[in-house]
Amino acid sequence: MEVTTRFAPSPTGYLHLGHAYSAWAAWSRARENGGRFRLRLEDIDGERCKAAFASAILEDLQWLGLDWDGEIRVQSLHMADYRKSLQALDAQGLLYPCFCSRSEITRALSAPHNLERVYPGTCRGLSAAKRAARMAEGKNFAWRLDSGRALQEVSDFGFYEEDIGWIDGDLVGLGDVVLARRDLPASYHLCVVHDDALQNVSHVARGRDLFEATHIHVLLQRLLSLPSPIYAHHSLLTDSDGRRLSKRDHAASLRGLRQAGVSATEVLARLREIRLRQETA
Ligand code: GLU
Repeated sequence: MEVTTRFAPSPTGYLHLGHAYSAWAAWSRARENGGRFRLRLEDIDGERCKAAFASAILEDLQWLGLDWDGEIRVQSLHMADYRKSLQALDAQGLLYPCFCSRSEITRALSAPHNLERVYPGTCRGLSAAKRAARMAEGKNFAWRLDSGRALQEVSDFGFYEEDIGWIDGDLVGLGDVVLARRDLPASYHLCVVHDDALQNVSHVARGRDLFEATHIHVLLQRLLSLPSPIYAHHSLLTDSDGRRLSKRDHAASLRGLRQAGVSATEVLARLREIRLRQETA
C-alpha cells in the first residue's frame, strides 16, 4: 500500500510542540515508507484564520525541515467542492436545516430528558412548509446531519486505529452534527473527509482530541463512498504543569522556542523522545 500522510493545521495561531509532533509523526511515516506527505490549510473559518498565521506555519515547518509533496491544499479556495459534498448528502435526504439559536440549544441540552447531552433534534421534525417559511423570513440556520437516517444507510461502520485495532462506529455523544451554515457550505467534518480522500491520504496522525470526531468522519466517508484512512491518535502534549498546550501560549510555540534559542535539531530530538514515551505509555 502506498503511504500518504498529511498535516492539516488551521491557521488560527502559531504552531506549538503538539502540532509539531503531529506534523513530524505524519512526515516521518511518509519519508520512512517512501510515501508522500501532504500539507493542507484548514482555513474555512474566515474570522479566526489569518494569512499571517498561514505563512508562519509554512515557515515553522521549513525551519523544522519537514518538507511536503505537491501543492498545498488551501480549503478556503475550494468551497464549491464542499458544497457538492453537502448536496450529495442532501440528495440522500440526510440533512435538515436547524434554526435553533445557541441559547435555545443550551436550554434544550439542560432539559432533564436529554440524557445524551447532544443536540436533541428540535428541528429534525419540522414540516417542509415550516422550514420554507423560516428560510423565507431570513432566519439563520445550520445544516445538520440526520444521524438516525444516516445510520440506517450504513449497516455497520467504524475505523482502524493503529495500535488498538478496529473501533466500531458510535455516534453517542455526537448526535446530529452541524455540517454547514447558511453562509458557509462547509464544516470541519465535511472538509476533512472530502480532502483526505482528494489527497489520497492513507494514514492520519493527529491528536487524541479528534478521536471522537473520527466516528463522524468515517460515517461521512461511507455516505459519500469515500475510502477511509488508517488513524493514529496520539496523546495530547502538556506543559510541565500538566496543562494541554494552547495556541495562546507563546512559550510553547515553535516561534517562542526558536526565539529562546532552541534549535530545530533540539526540537526534533524532543519529538523523538515524546514518541518513545508515547510508545511505552
Ligand atoms: N485542522 C485541525 C486542527 O488544526 C486538524 C484536523 C485534522 O488533523 O484532522 O486542529
